[in-house]
Amino acid sequence: MVNCSFYFKIGACRHGDRCSRLHNKPTFSQTIVLLNLYRNPQNTAQTADGSHCHVSDVEVQEHYDNFFEEVFTELQEKYGEIEEMNVCDNLGDHLVGNVYVKFRREEDAERAVVELNNRWFNGQAVHAELSPVTDFRESCCRQYEMGECTRGGFCNFMHLRPISRNLRRQLYGRGPRHRCHLQGPIQVTVPEKGTDVVPQTTGMVASETGALALHPRA
Ligand SMILES: [Zn+2]
Ligand SMILES: [Zn+2]
Repeated sequence: MVNCSFYFKIGACRHGDRCSRLHNKPTFSQTIVLLNLYRNPQNTAQTADGSHCHVSDVEVQEHYDNFFEEVFTELQEKYGEIEEMNVCDNLGDHLVGNVYVKFRREEDAERAVVELNNRWFNGQAVHAELSPVTDFRESCCRQYEMGECTRGGFCNFMHLRPISRNLRRQLYGRGPRHRCHLQGPIQVTVPEKGTDVVPQTTGMVASETGALALHPRA
């Protein structure tokens, strides 16, 4: 059987288990994927009557940075040094909210998968697995980084949402490891004036960014 190039490069393919090509699951890898973990409040924010509430770009970025920092920090403290972490902002079921974490050591990744599969996040069981992805330059959508992907959220390459510059500096220290997803024009610009004003977050956003939500499964 021929290897599925989507699974091989991206660690996820829209055909899932029904794919006619081979999904060669790694038995060891530095990279793990936490499937569908990140929820973009712009995609999920709905009021009781079903209408969408407005979540501004600044709020989304703040929510995202909080999510990223929380997950990154906890996984690094528990399992070991992280080389890079990437989060998909795609909309297709097999990619939406996928969080890819590349550890420095394979044994840390292995332990993380076993333990994280017994955890909950935001009220949902965590689904973690080893991922074949090692080079994110191969898996991310270049058009998205240029701001010109015409396939939008349903693109089958990773649309990696950038974290803010300050958080990047804080988590990775000086100097990015590679520039793959760092240069995208999808930068949320915080206005120069009034940056001390904390934007009003909706109840939904506030609750999601609250206490550490990764907790042991009861
Ligand atoms: Zn496939
Ligand atoms: Zn794309």
